Amino acid sequence: MKKKLQLLFYLFFCLLLLSLSISCQLQNFPGEKKAASGQGEAVNQQEKDNDEHEYGKKDKTEKGTGEKEVTPAEKEGEELEEKQGLIPPEVLEHKPNELGEIMILMYHEIGYPESEWRRTPENFRRDLETLYEQGYRAVSLTDLVRGNINIPAGTSPVVLTFDDGNKGNFYYLEKNSELEIAPDCAVAIMESFRKEKPDFGLAATFFIYYPNPFREPRYIEKKLNYLAAKGFEIGNHTYGHADLSRLGSGEIQRELAQHVPKTREYVPGYEVNSLALPYGGYPRENFELLRQGAYEGITYRNEAVLLVGSNPSLSPFHKNFNSFRLPRIRASELKTDGVGLYDWLEYFGQNPHKRYISDGDTRYVTAPESWSDFLNETVLGENEARFYVN
Ligand SMILES: [Zn+2]
Repeated sequence: MKKKLQLLFYLFFCLLLLSLSISCQLQNFPGEKKAASGQGEAVNQQEKDNDEHEYGKKDKTEKGTGEKEVTPAEKEGEELEEKQGLIPPEVLEHKPNELGEIMILMYHEIGYPESEWRRTPENFRRDLETLYEQGYRAVSLTDLVRGNINIPAGTSPVVLTFDDGNKGNFYYLEKNSELEIAPDCAVAIMESFRKEKPDFGLAATFFIYYPNPFREPRYIEKKLNYLAAKGFEIGNHTYGHADLSRLGSGEIQRELAQHVPKTREYVPGYEVNSLALPYGGYPRENFELLRQGAYEGITYRNEAVLLVGSNPSLSPFHKNFNSFRLPRIRASELKTDGVGLYDWLEYFGQNPHKRYISDGDTRYVTAPESWSDFLNETVLGENEARFYVN
């Protein structure tokens, strides 16, 4: 009997210890732990600082040491002011993180039937609706790499890209001897969606190759000028859809340079400033030539080089951001290996702290303090960085 009582007492004691340790862990802000997981030791230190800060705050509020007559609210206010500077509360509400990750979507053909590299017009429209509803706004690739992301507070940038210049990207219909943009091509779908949701924005890059972009030879000039006039971007997909991983330096420069005068033949003065690698073929050496080079007196210069990839891009303000190796996400639902658009939407839904969330003010780069070590101060220019306790 005595043994039984001892055993019961022992069990009770163990339970007490267990519940104490669980409640301690709960106070340890598991969300923040996740935010920083896999981001290196620097952040772990930041985390500790945050935790200490939070615990300190708790002690004072709960125990009320009474040394000074500072109310908990006043104390908290002072700390916030000190840490958060002049970030307006209506901005903080959105938990902005301009060091978070950004999706660059990769589309190919828009048409039927749906396949690994083809999205139906209905599904493409649904992608835009889903992105919009989940707070994404379209920005151009150039604006992304230049860190010129001008979208409202609380929203996230998304970049749309189309490879190969397939017909379903942009084609004309002849109706009663008049030309009309086919309503189910990518350009028309984006434009009509923008009419419905003007704040979604209108931005995409079409990575084309020659000689026949968009597969209607008589309308090449009309289409390329239309795209440029509407603010869409024309990107280099090499002159002849070459796998650059198989070419020597002379051939790489020829493939990239020839695109420039050809595009200018149609759109005078147009500056192609981005490259999407066909087949994701990254040269084993000579990768400096992706950035700039020359062939027979024609020079080219890219600000962005896009891979095929499977994950979101880092923020342009992140110290590890590399605009010459930008990964893209397949905007597809077939054979995406768990890393397609909808997988990442789900991921960012579950991990909102990982996602780039705008502060709505291009003069500032705002992020949680636990991310401050990731800032690349050299790209700030005239802008200022602001951090807040998360
Ligand atoms: Zn391609």
